[in-house]
Amino acid sequence: MSQPNQLKLIPSVDKLLSSAAFRNTIEVYGHTRTSQSIREYLSSLRSQIRENDGHPIPAMEDIAVIITTSLDAIDTSSLRPVLNLTGTVLHTNLGRAALPSSALDAVIRTASGNTNLEFDLSEGKRGDRDDHVEKLLCELTGAEAVTVVNNNAAAVLICLNTFAFGKEVCISRGELVEIGGSFRIPEVMEKSGCSLRELGATNRTHLKDYANAVNEHTGLLMKVHTSNYEIRGFTQEVSYEALARLAKESDVPFLADLGSGTLVNLEHYGLEHEPTVQEVLKAGTDVVTFSGDKLLGGPQSGIIAGRKDLIEQVKNNPLKRALRVDKMTIAALSEVLKLYKHPESLTRELPTIRHLARRPEEIRSISETVLPAFTESAGDKATVSIIPSASQIGSGALPLDQLPSFSIQIKPISERDSALQQLARSFRDMPVPVVGRLQDGALLFDVRTLDECALLIDQLEHFAWP
Ligand SMILES: *Cc1c(COP(=O)(O)O)cnc(C)c1O
Repeated sequence: MSQPNQLKLIPSVDKLLSSAAFRNTIEVYGHTRTSQSIREYLSSLRSQIRENDGHPIPAMEDIAVIITTSLDAIDTSSLRPVLNLTGTVLHTNLGRAALPSSALDAVIRTASGNTNLEFDLSEGKRGDRDDHVEKLLCELTGAEAVTVVNNNAAAVLICLNTFAFGKEVCISRGELVEIGGSFRIPEVMEKSGCSLRELGATNRTHLKDYANAVNEHTGLLMKVHTSNYEIRGFTQEVSYEALARLAKESDVPFLADLGSGTLVNLEHYGLEHEPTVQEVLKAGTDVVTFSGDKLLGGPQSGIIAGRKDLIEQVKNNPLKRALRVDKMTIAALSEVLKLYKHPESLTRELPTIRHLARRPEEIRSISETVLPAFTESAGDKATVSIIPSASQIGSGALPLDQLPSFSIQIKPISERDSALQQLARSFRDMPVPVVGRLQDGALLFDVRTLDECALLIDQLEHFAWP
């Protein structure tokens, strides 16, 4: 088979490396990386030419730009801070909870050297990393014992595997939830070695459904807080108290996955009631699991709290080692928990609670602070105004609860959808990307979660409107 003619015209690696066009690239990235990158580029260029003999061969200067851009991109950190103005306070794709400054300081202190992570300083012996948060968590939740793993999905997995491996788990059909990102209760059950015993109907489950299902194969009764949807209308679910009683009579443990799990009564902040960890444990639930970075407002982690003998079993499960948290998480979590000992200061000190509790008047005043910068920057490219809007908690908590808020609304002069998309994209291209949401033909920036007004105003001064 004859070679396409174009192939013969491709410059060699050596020729490119010795050309003036590459001098700067080699100076910045070194000979080895540059030649490796050239080789990869030429190989993909060859395949494109084999597919299409007419494919053009860029000039050496253009090849140098392509190579330099790709090396630049590799060396630029892809993980960047962004401003979350989507209106979803706990946005999973944007990294959920922002940590308070005391937690950040603790992370730096702990991560920059060695710590007594698993070392008992008074005895000079091996300790347990859970020790640094267990006392605080027991005090705050009323649990006898606590252990912490990498996230709440891990907490559910290890609990199922510990309490019901090879056995049946009784759970209501209405609670077989899927959390965004492919965490489905039935699938986690299978992976943890348990079999699912679905009870009742999607909308209604009764105590007798559980009572009839319990037999010698039952390993666990489970209740999952339906955190990202709500079934309304003709519904019936069984209370924590009733299930706890049945579990005791049947001599099987009762596990509740709270998902978000809050330590404070959200009604204090004008939100709807969400069962607190304390309430659910007080109802007699043996073990509860909840996330560290949802309503708690801490680092990514999964907290398992409850009866001492059961928590001990979880700690002794070999999976615990695979799912354990690192020292930075322990350091941050411990500081966040300390804030809960002074609940009156949470709205000041803890970003998640501060954002959730923000009153509409305050949000309106934030939007008035940034409005002039938007208006001035937009010029005649767009109309800018403040509109009432609704934020949500996110990460599954109180899915139907809409929090009254205010947003900066931007409407490009051109009514084409592409103009709106381009506008949203330009804001995402800012040095600190600003992420909003599209609604009713406009770009909305919900300022409930905005703490960095000066940064945003400064970015707007240098913003090139599309
Ligand atoms: C969010 C959630 C999980 C998963 O928690 P992660 O911390 O995201 O791993 C599990 N169960 C419920 C009910 C949840 O809401």
